[in-house]
Amino acid sequence: MEQTFVMVKPDGVRRGLIGPIIARFEQKGFTLAAIELLRIDRLLAEQHYSDLRTKPFFGELVDYLTSGPVCAMVWQGEHAVENARALIGKTNPVEASTGTIRGDFAMDIAGNIVHGSDSAASAAREIGLFFGKQPVSSHPLDLYASEQGHG
Ligand code: GDP
Ligand code: MG
Repeated sequence: MEQTFVMVKPDGVRRGLIGPIIARFEQKGFTLAAIELLRIDRLLAEQHYSDLRTKPFFGELVDYLTSGPVCAMVWQGEHAVENARALIGKTNPVEASTGTIRGDFAMDIAGNIVHGSDSAASAAREIGLFFGKQPVSSHPLDLYASEQGHG
């Protein structure tokens, strides 16, 4: 079972889109493995997008990511990375198909409301950055049951 890192960016949180975005992932068949609402500092934003640090929009991107709380999540399922990218849609909402999250909820590349890892290696790196080095449980519901004393 593969895991991927997904983040509702500050504009998505501000616009009340955490719920609709979670619904899309649940409806598709993903299982939620971890979730946290947090504020990203500039260092974490720069680390998260380290592959883009030479881009002319990098400063604007870090400003954007640190402009308010984000909702960081780990979703798991078959081909989780590819399925999440398909659900999220193209980077530029102008090009994202209707029916995708960016296609339905966003207008502009500078405010595309959600992030999804682009490969299994990126997913592992990003999950480590946001949720620590310990791997997120691959059996979250079993973990929940045992923590409640039912497992
Ligand atoms: P993603 O994997 O689809 O999110 O796309 P990238 O990894 O290429 O870019 C990461 C993020 O940088 C995008 O989701 C946008 O938030 C932002 N970004 C990409 N291109 C641009 C741009 O031309 N201008 C601005 N302001 N932001 C951009
Ligand atoms: Mg990317």
